Amino acid sequence: MIIKQIPVGTIANFNYLIGDPDSGTAALVDPAWEPERLLAEARELGLSVTHILLTHCHSDHVQANGAIKEATGAEIYVHRAEFPYLKHFLPPAGDVAMEDGGQVQVGGLTVRWLHTPGHSPGSSCLYVGDALIAGDTLFVNSIGRTDFPGSDPEEMWESICKLKALPDHVTVYPGHHYGPTPTTTIGDQKRANPYWQPDTLEAFLALAQPENDEM
Ligand SMILES: [Zn+2]
Ligand SMILES: [Zn+2]
Repeated sequence: MIIKQIPVGTIANFNYLIGDPDSGTAALVDPAWEPERLLAEARELGLSVTHILLTHCHSDHVQANGAIKEATGAEIYVHRAEFPYLKHFLPPAGDVAMEDGGQVQVGGLTVRWLHTPGHSPGSSCLYVGDALIAGDTLFVNSIGRTDFPGSDPEEMWESICKLKALPDHVTVYPGHHYGPTPTTTIGDQKRANPYWQPDTLEAFLALAQPENDEM
């Protein structure tokens, strides 16, 4: 499996290519900002983009949807709860509505859909092999904001509990480069992420909002 982390845009977004070298197919996660470059990265790796997977629908994660879909014919997969929000952002809307526990087959790779709301209603993490592509649910030593329209801090708490149940060795690939390193692990976040330390919902809600003020 190939996981290619691609920094794009002006607010430290990470896009990802999830590639299956055996079949030469790939999924592009959260395409935004630089569609030509994303397609060039896929070509360089010998991969054809067959799927567009969205962790959520804030504009900094979807704004190249149309360009990538037009160039590749790939279908767009997004959690059902994000569909009402897609109309606020650039077309096209999603093609396939995902649910928690759903699976997407990318060549020989099985991508599992973990619904992790809190930052947005349909925010999801994509779990493939020992990798978790976390969108804006989890950053290195921080979490996504929970004060946007559609955000819900109590849902974020539930999502944190869900992610803490994953094996410690799972590598986390965040939606933005806001931390000291570009990736982390579930085990490291259990130790180092201040928003993952509270033991109760009440203690979590008492924490201040994450300080980064980006999307
Ligand atoms: Zn974002
Ligand atoms: Zn976001």
